[in-house]
Amino acid sequence: MYNKNTILLVDDEEMVKKRLRDVINDNFEVLDASDGQEALDVLAANINKVAVIVLDLIMPIMDGFQFMDEFRRHQEYDNIPVIVATANEDWHSEQKCLEAGVWDFVMKPYNPLLLQFRIRNAIDKSRMIMAERDAITGLYTKYKFYRAVRMLLLENTEETFAFARFDIDRFKMINNFYGVKEGNKVLQSVASELRKIATVFAKFVYGRIENDVFGVCMPFKEENIELLVNALQINLRKVNKDYNIKVSCGVYVINDDTLDVAEIYDRAFLAAKSCKGKFVQSIAYYNDSMIEDMRQEQFIINEVNRAIEEEQFEVYLQPKINLATDRSYGAEALVRWQHPDLGMISPGEFIPIYERNGIIGRLDQYMWRHVCKLLRKWLDEGKNPNPISVNVSRVNIYNPQLIQIFKKLITEYQIPAELLNLELTESAFMEDQDLIMKTMSNLHQLGFKIMMDDFGSGYSSLNVLKDMEVDYLKVDMKFLQDQEFNGKGEKVLTSVIRMAKWLHLPSIVEGVETLEQVDFLKCIGCEYAQGYYYAKPMTVADYEAFIAKEEVMGAKCCEDENITIVNELWNTRSNTSRLFDMLDTPIAVYEYRHEKLELLRTNARYESELVFDKSVSEHEHNRRMKAEREMLCEAFAKIVRGDFCGPMEYELTNDIWYRVTVRVIGKRADTMIMMVTFYEISEYK
Ligand code: C2E
Ligand code: CA
Ligand code: CA
Repeated sequence: MYNKNTILLVDDEEMVKKRLRDVINDNFEVLDASDGQEALDVLAANINKVAVIVLDLIMPIMDGFQFMDEFRRHQEYDNIPVIVATANEDWHSEQKCLEAGVWDFVMKPYNPLLLQFRIRNAIDKSRMIMAERDAITGLYTKYKFYRAVRMLLLENTEETFAFARFDIDRFKMINNFYGVKEGNKVLQSVASELRKIATVFAKFVYGRIENDVFGVCMPFKEENIELLVNALQINLRKVNKDYNIKVSCGVYVINDDTLDVAEIYDRAFLAAKSCKGKFVQSIAYYNDSMIEDMRQEQFIINEVNRAIEEEQFEVYLQPKINLATDRSYGAEALVRWQHPDLGMISPGEFIPIYERNGIIGRLDQYMWRHVCKLLRKWLDEGKNPNPISVNVSRVNIYNPQLIQIFKKLITEYQIPAELLNLELTESAFMEDQDLIMKTMSNLHQLGFKIMMDDFGSGYSSLNVLKDMEVDYLKVDMKFLQDQEFNGKGEKVLTSVIRMAKWLHLPSIVEGVETLEQVDFLKCIGCEYAQGYYYAKPMTVADYEAFIAKEEVMGAKCCEDENITIVNELWNTRSNTSRLFDMLDTPIAVYEYRHEKLELLRTNARYESELVFDKSVSEHEHNRRMKAEREMLCEAFAKIVRGDFCGPMEYELTNDIWYRVTVRVIGKRADTMIMMVTFYEISEYK
């Protein structure tokens, strides 16, 4: 940017231009224009070259003043100095020129040496200003802004000031989805709003610190901070209605005059972090506990190398239970930190920090290696271990070495890939979908099974599942905890599990804590569960004992055989399910709850006889469905009341009669699973 050395000469007299060229040609390149309009065109085509403009005032078509009017409208020309050539001393025009933003004057006829000096001066000055001004927004750059803050504080020691640091939530997304140009537009609109607000306050310093981060320093008044953030927010919403922009603002009320501006900024930044991503909160004030948290965070980061070297991280295992057999089928490896001085630190305290800092990549790999070692040990002992799943954090999904790392691990420890399952968190699937699909396909080729972890915790839609070739769905525990769903958690969970079934994806529900939840999951056909009800994460030794005990006990007898039938029906590959489909009698399985019935499963015969009759109109089809439902509702209600419900006769259409029987095949609290069988009896009528 600093080696621009082209001069734009704007004059209608060819002689003048020729003479000028002769004077300055040695040191600069020269572009010329004969009037204001032409000058604007030349400028637009050479924006990155022009260092100075030498402008005549009196010209045809567009004169110098009109040119300045137009020129000043373009923010991108802000740093280009304009030197005006005047024929004689005309104070009035000079004043007008200064108002119009002209930097300097030269007298005609030109004195070559003087002109060269003036041009040099203008360029040097504009370079200095350019270093202080940010090219995109024209605001102060970080250092200039910090200096201005320092001056403001020094000159007003009696007053209390606030330093506000704000940024735009998901700015990266705007850049990625809408392009850098759109991103710049957002930044420029923040800048122009700040300029506007600055005219209201006597003491108000502002600048762009980096990327989408801006700073403001002003006398502290809570309502003024709110005003500022609201004004920015409202203005930003106008930029583009397609996305909602939210500003996160961290404020430090400066009450310690020994801090330098960088430290003041750090405190505002700590505050800003606490409102990032929260939908309702835009402003957060710094308090001293934030510094304590930061120190704690720093400690955890500093300790990591030693902890890895000294193997302070330990693998804990939490069994996953196959709900059809109530026995464990493998486990998830979860990290535990045994700190020599502090005792056990829970992952909740250090994983988020390591995720933010990318350190999690190393910790993951540490865990994978330890799990491989463990699997090797079991294989060496002649055991027949079930798969253990490990967590793969986002940074590792983007690690170009990932495939190599896994390949190396299974080769080194001679582990069949299907013994090491990989849990990838749901939110990662939303980011770079092409990359994640490629990574998954490579992992599949090596023989790994992939689980989508924490499903439902973020934004992923059911759509994502359809496109992503995962092997298992791990459903987040929040559905069971339910507070967020006003009691609808069960319903949502039911649909999630059903949808997974349509996609032939077995599901594992996490966070199962009670027998009631277990029954519920069995009832909706969930395949696996993981949670405190069965076992908490445990040491490897405890896990080995757990497995040994299970083996001694043998397969537990299922307490409710009916539930097993439901499970088997869900599993389209089970024998029961195949038999169900092969039977020559139409059968449908319904769920009945609070006087509502829902069709869960039908066999092929039901579909062909009772549903897919192409010869009937849609109207007739709907009539039949309605009639069938009304009959069943009545029958189900009887059963729920405990009344006898014998076979019913049902006329599908003219002279086609069925005898319909209903049997309860599963029951849990207020939900019943009913099997409905249709025997055709037309010939006996
Ligand atoms: P996650 O992967 O979703 O792991 C399940 C978490 O749920 C574990 O917490 C587990 O102890 C907890 N949990 C299991 N059953 C129940 C239950 O019935 N009720 C409740 N309330 N909680 C249950 P933990 O071990 O504290 O780990 C928390 C998170 O930290 C994990 O969530 C995972 O995201 C992360 N994490 C743990 N170990 C590792 C690791 O080795 N690598 C990576 N990258 N992340 C890990
Ligand atoms: Ca997990
Ligand atoms: Ca999880």
